[in-house]
Amino acid sequence: MSRFWSAGVADLTPYVPGEQPQMQRLIKLNTNENPYGPSPRVLAAIRDALGSDAEALKLYPDPDARRFKQAIATRFGLEVANVHVGNGSDEVLANVFQGLLKHDKPILYPDITYSFYPVYCGLYGVAFETVPLSDTFEIRAEDYRKPNGGIIFPNPNAPTGRAIALGEIERVLTDNAGSVVVIDEAYIDFGGETAAGLIAKYPNLLVVQTLSKSRSLAGLRLGFAIGHPDLIEALERVKNSFNSYPLDRLAQAAGVAAIEDEVYFEQTRQAVIASREALVERMTALGFEVLPSKANFVFARHPAHDAAQLAAALRERAIIVRHFKNARVAQFLRITVGTDAECETFTDALKEILAG
Ligand code: PMP
Repeated sequence: MSRFWSAGVADLTPYVPGEQPQMQRLIKLNTNENPYGPSPRVLAAIRDALGSDAEALKLYPDPDARRFKQAIATRFGLEVANVHVGNGSDEVLANVFQGLLKHDKPILYPDITYSFYPVYCGLYGVAFETVPLSDTFEIRAEDYRKPNGGIIFPNPNAPTGRAIALGEIERVLTDNAGSVVVIDEAYIDFGGETAAGLIAKYPNLLVVQTLSKSRSLAGLRLGFAIGHPDLIEALERVKNSFNSYPLDRLAQAAGVAAIEDEVYFEQTRQAVIASREALVERMTALGFEVLPSKANFVFARHPAHDAAQLAAALRERAIIVRHFKNARVAQFLRITVGTDAECETFTDALKEILAG
């Protein structure tokens, strides 16, 4: 705290990201990165964009990222006017909270969900109300039938990994035709049903996706939102009042290549899904209760072992997973699906710890 701070800064509660150790040789299963690298076409595109002497870097990038937006529009059968892009979907979400979710009534989101939502509410002065997940940690459409200034939830939800069906999302959209409904699809490519196909039908739907997970580009920071042009225009206005160039030249070139390489995308996402199913089977055999996951992580608890202690014991074996302190899920661990070899090292370590 300093007298130089602007009003309100002392009252912010910043988001605390998962640990990102930059040096150690750890098995890193704590922040839902993809265990496979990005498409080789991404690296080629970055080299291309750089040119032979890095001359290209002296020039500003395209402020509208048109080629990247066009690649996204083409993939989803939409127009460029339906697409907003940002520096990771976190930045896109920030623009959403500021540009579309600040109204008189509180917005709604689940009690157990992405912990950045309350942070944005604090930053932008957005009133919110949380809606409890069911006893089995599911989002239920009927719980969102009450006055609100907007609705946001991830599908699949984080950190539970549970997905809801498209029909349920349509119910939320029709029950709330007067509100923006934001579906945060950070993990959609690992088995959920995207709501992207509903955009033409519902002008109040905004779908947010990221290239950090299924496209293995967490390090480049690329995310996007798709929806009716009126929603996109609000996001563009916010973006252009904050930063003309949130995506650098290399990221834009990489984004196009990543979206266009459908073959690599399909291979790697199927590999992650297969590893997840094997991981769930092995953890279940060890006595864990694992929530059904459509994401690239699983959320699990053991009836006889404290989650914080398990996380600490794993860390001693150079494996890091995520543990949240929220009372309702304090006995759960969130484990990112790694390669098959990493998952096996993880379950072998669990076996040893449980045998204690
Ligand atoms: N939404 C959800 C639900 C997430 O878990 C994450 C990853 N922390 C994000 C959005 C943001 O991802 P990124 O900024 O890397 O696109």
